[in-house]
Amino acid sequence: MGFPNLDEIVEGVGFMVKDAEEFVQETVQDTENLVEIGRQVVNTNTNDCFKDKNTIEDYNPPDPTALQYSTFKDASTNVRLIEGLTYKENRVRLSTFSILPPQLKEEVPQNLKTKRSLQLHPLALKRLKLMNEAWMKEYGGKEITSQSGGRLTISKGKPLAIASGYRDIGEVKYKYLLNVNDSRTKKYPTIVSAVNLGEKNVKKLFELLLIAKYGSVQRGRKYLAWHSPHGTGLAMDFGSNGLEPKSRTNSAQKKTTLFKWLRDNAHKFGFSPYIREAWHWEVLVPRENWATGQEFVQGSNYNIRVVEEGTKTKFKTTNRKFPEEFAV
Ligand SMILES: [Zn+2]
Repeated sequence: MGFPNLDEIVEGVGFMVKDAEEFVQETVQDTENLVEIGRQVVNTNTNDCFKDKNTIEDYNPPDPTALQYSTFKDASTNVRLIEGLTYKENRVRLSTFSILPPQLKEEVPQNLKTKRSLQLHPLALKRLKLMNEAWMKEYGGKEITSQSGGRLTISKGKPLAIASGYRDIGEVKYKYLLNVNDSRTKKYPTIVSAVNLGEKNVKKLFELLLIAKYGSVQRGRKYLAWHSPHGTGLAMDFGSNGLEPKSRTNSAQKKTTLFKWLRDNAHKFGFSPYIREAWHWEVLVPRENWATGQEFVQGSNYNIRVVEEGTKTKFKTTNRKFPEEFAV
């Protein structure tokens, strides 16, 4: 486990800020973040347009008693499965789900990863495998436009290997701050004394770390991520055929054969994009199926978009406000 590279850090920034007020307080990366808020509102409205459409197949929720993950908070929701939409976000929020529990971490096969160890949620991995089959049928070994260092190149189509899948999030990654004997914690006297005074909240200690390292919480959040959809196991970053988790080459990535193919086809396998980042794709699933790992698609048609909303608040699970559904 090394330090995250700069691009991963930059990528994390977009997910750390919880609500619009905080977005407004941000300074440097404001513009891009605000664009995201605007898009979210648009997406919400788009979903509403589909209210009258017939669902593709009946949705059979799994038995809630089969929920395996204790910190997953149950909430009453309605799930609709509609036809996939081409290149439309359907954001996975960590706060909608939770951290991927160990029993649901599935190791990605060697040909579909660029690192030795990489895990995804089983429902996301299944769709990646299906999408890879379709891509390889069309482009495997064939000439494609790729990119390297921002320059377009010609290469041969290879499997859809990902560079990142599940990633530890704040609660897990910074748990060591609770241990005053850990050498990483010892470096920060403010954290040591807070723990000695009884502080048990890892997020609070993380904020002290930001202050110690970067001068303020606000500034530190631009460098270190607390929350990311990667924590759910439903998000992945491609690392092959010219796609890579690097902001620097984002615009060149969008000119590659793979990106254009994903833009036109990924929804057929249940994927949705994060429009700001060519390499980052997500598989939104119903909350209960996330918790059980049980498939929700019957038959072989994965061209399905999940629309789930709270019965109390009507907030969609893609909305940052969704956690209000399970607030008492
Ligand atoms: Zn990502």
